[in-house]
Amino acid sequence: MTIRLATRFAPSPNGHLHPGHAFSALTAWDWACAHDARFILRIEDTDRTRSRREFETSQIEDLRWLGLDWEEPVRRQSDHLPDYERGLDRLRDLGLVYPCFCTRKDISASALAPHGPDGVIYPGTCRGLPKDVRDTKQAEGMAFALRLDVARAVEVAERLSGNRLTFTEEGAGPDGETGRLPVDPRPMGDAVLARKDGVIAYHLAVVMDDAAQGITHVIRGQDLFFATPLHRVLQVLLDLPEPRYRHHGLILDETGERMAKRRGSKSLADLRAEGKTPDDIRRMVGLA
Ligand code: GLU
Repeated sequence: MTIRLATRFAPSPNGHLHPGHAFSALTAWDWACAHDARFILRIEDTDRTRSRREFETSQIEDLRWLGLDWEEPVRRQSDHLPDYERGLDRLRDLGLVYPCFCTRKDISASALAPHGPDGVIYPGTCRGLPKDVRDTKQAEGMAFALRLDVARAVEVAERLSGNRLTFTEEGAGPDGETGRLPVDPRPMGDAVLARKDGVIAYHLAVVMDDAAQGITHVIRGQDLFFATPLHRVLQVLLDLPEPRYRHHGLILDETGERMAKRRGSKSLADLRAEGKTPDDIRRMVGLA
């Protein structure tokens, strides 16, 4: 049986879409059209404090206006929370998850906590807490996040796969061909898998959904390149298939900054209201 290729666009509904999102969505869409692949839209709304239904509606409207079409029903992560809990249980059974009681302030106050692409790198304060200390803190009702012991996770993943881990990145070879890159998420520190408020982290949800939806090619922005080694480790630990990756460049505004609402750059809805057409947007992001 041949597996049909599939890619996706996976916005978080916490704001309006901007030309940078359009570039990402259109890059994946054009690839799907060129490869007769499935195209999937996924709403990444595990963070209920930031996600809003009206943003989801406006994002969907913008994507339709751009000419995209996707399989229905659209998967909304908030409808699948028990699935992610099962993933978390499996990681827990492997002994790779620990409760972290640190506050943001504790972490940023640590001299050992440099900044990484995912925020402050956690110095591992709670990793080695003795069981009785953990139990007492939990019994006292102290809030805790769940973190992955990333060094052990790499060890176990390598044991399970019988190999040094790598991931496949299109364009990473010496002549721009597809290449395999080494996987080492340890410099990122012990990633949060579930926040103190119970929100499942993007890293866990994304690998489980890519597998559940049969995604063979993950096409997304360069800003998420740093996360791919962690995603690969989670795929091995959760026994999920390995997709290929392509991290595309980011669309910057005139000042060289990423386009984002907080910088006052125009959203797709603004541009549409000004009379711009989908072809204008394509030209704007260099895809015409
Ligand atoms: N939801 C993520 C975002 O909006 C994208 C996730 C992904 O493509 O892996 O940045």
